[in-house]
Amino acid sequence: MAYSRTNNSTRATIDRSELYGSGTFKYVYAGTYTAGARKGQPCVAKEFKSGCVVEDHYFDEEMNICAKSQEIIDEFNEVGIMNQEVYLNTPEIWEYNGRRSPQKGQKVLIEPMIQNFEKFNSNSGWALSEPTGWAAALQSLSHFSYDNSGGQLLLCDLQGGIYNDGFVLTDPVIMSRAQNCGPADLGMDGIMSFFQRHRCNGFCDASWRKPPVLGKAKIRMHQGTTMQAYLPTRSSRTPLTVPGRRFR
Ligand SMILES: [Zn+2]
Repeated sequence: MAYSRTNNSTRATIDRSELYGSGTFKYVYAGTYTAGARKGQPCVAKEFKSGCVVEDHYFDEEMNICAKSQEIIDEFNEVGIMNQEVYLNTPEIWEYNGRRSPQKGQKVLIEPMIQNFEKFNSNSGWALSEPTGWAAALQSLSHFSYDNSGGQLLLCDLQGGIYNDGFVLTDPVIMSRAQNCGPADLGMDGIMSFFQRHRCNGFCDASWRKPPVLGKAKIRMHQGTTMQAYLPTRSSRTPLTVPGRRFR
């Protein structure tokens, strides 16, 4: 079963006159569903900050990370560590189509709004210092993801809202040994930073694996999402260095 919270709607109006929120990668605007099962309920529209040039790639990557995160969350629920379930807000790629809208044709991620939004850990190892309840359970979800993947990845940047019968996550980050899960994937350095600061709690299982942690964390810890800085490689251009020659 997929523990996902979906739009279940076909249309919404978005108020772009005012920013509702802003993450490292995206601007968030508030709106309301106007057709479908969630008609009248609030939603959010997320737009990439990078502009439209590279957008298709960003959208594909976002949906891949979402699908992978969903698998981890479903497996965590199936193990039955919690007596309530964790759900993942599942965005869909919609397009603005207001007749006179300057955004007409522009892609946007739409998902249901989360009430009582809170952040519980980041991709640089930040977490509440003495987590209890859901905050502790979510640290354990991160640890579970590492063990359950055979030490290949870590689900983190866990944020969302507590409801009376479960928790809804949005926009998690996956950090992977292969470092192939988008710009917030800090690879093994990020995974090690999590474990350097992670203290197992009552929801963690003593048998879950941990990487051998040595020395100081390489990633500076903060609550926001840390992003890799890189320039895209242009393979058609001549390299600056050639084997056996000095840098030129
Ligand atoms: Zn743990």
